[in-house]
Amino acid sequence: MITLLDNSFSQINEFIAEKSFSKIFILVDENTHEYCLPQFLGNLETEVTFEILEIEAGEEMKNIQTANQLWEILTEMQADRKALLINLGGGVVTDLGGFVASTYKRGIQFINVPTTLLSMCDASIGGKTGIDLMNYKNMVGTFAFPEKIYVYPKFLETLPHKELISGFAEMLKHGLIADKKHWEDLIKIQHPDAAAIEAFIPQSMEIKQEIVNVDCFEKNIRKTLNFGHTIGHAIESLCLADEKPILHGEAVALGMICETHLSFLEGLIDKETADVVIENIQRYFCSIDISGFDDTQIFSLLLNDKKNSDLVINFSLLSGVGSCLYDYNCKDENIKKSLRFYRHLS
Ligand code: NAD
Ligand code: ZN
Repeated sequence: MITLLDNSFSQINEFIAEKSFSKIFILVDENTHEYCLPQFLGNLETEVTFEILEIEAGEEMKNIQTANQLWEILTEMQADRKALLINLGGGVVTDLGGFVASTYKRGIQFINVPTTLLSMCDASIGGKTGIDLMNYKNMVGTFAFPEKIYVYPKFLETLPHKELISGFAEMLKHGLIADKKHWEDLIKIQHPDAAAIEAFIPQSMEIKQEIVNVDCFEKNIRKTLNFGHTIGHAIESLCLADEKPILHGEAVALGMICETHLSFLEGLIDKETADVVIENIQRYFCSIDISGFDDTQIFSLLLNDKKNSDLVINFSLLSGVGSCLYDYNCKDENIKKSLRFYRHLS
């Protein structure tokens, strides 16, 4: 399913040659158009005609208006059910492109060619597609699986450092919830640049893929991947609504700090373990000012989280380094304490 590309991208050409696609559409954003598309097209060898679909870059584009524009363009260009959509970009492109492909004419085939660390290790894997609604993240979407995922780590060479670190948050999460060795390998990295991180990408992709293989539709163990995301998503949404968006990985790092402390407050891990985890996350991530958001605002978003059932907030919390519990209901007081803990760290 996931293939690491060699420099020739021959695996993509072989895949396309084996199928009889009527037309190929390549979805990019303005940055992947500039930095990744030339290399991609330089290696694409196919007789099938292709069109480039470009969107502006940024989370703000992951909405129904952009999806609608793409559906309309596909219609105008007479894309039929044998068309292929190639999503060449970060998580915004793979989430949005996957959503558009899975709904257009009740579904056309798509492949993901992730170009950010976050999309390589996380967003492009696992079949979750979607768009944001109002200020809520990923509120509308589908489970739809790409035919293939092609990963070319050299794309990371042009990725801004801030974006690289954002993806590093999800890699740290994979270690924390499922693989102590992966966590320990990652925290040995002193200067997390593309060269230092590249070697650990396959390990991180594998952790996510294995979890998804066991529980594709998030009935049980896949929920552990939401560690850091309950509080993280709430803060990410509030910052977006405040027109001061933060990166997804930055929000997840913040969420992991709060939820690690919460794991300690709930008696799931000891203080020393929690402190070591938090100190290591802090080494890589600047703190985010959440003093402008009060507990009521944050709770209102927490209560709207997709993972909830019966109006109870479901957390995924650490029970050790490399192990995670899901559907865990915490005392409201402890959730508030974990937010207060973060505010005092900043
Ligand atoms: P992104 O797609 O916005 O990319 C980040 C920035 O990097 C953008 O400006 C983009 O244009 C630019 N960029 C991409 N590749 C580049 C390259 N090689 N060189 C230079 N610039 C490049 O953001 P992201 O961090 O990749 O993904 C975040 C999104 O992924 C969020 O919407 C999040 O909800 C989603 N996500 C989805 C899943 C899932 O399971 N579906 C999992 C995690 C995150
Ligand atoms: Zn995430």
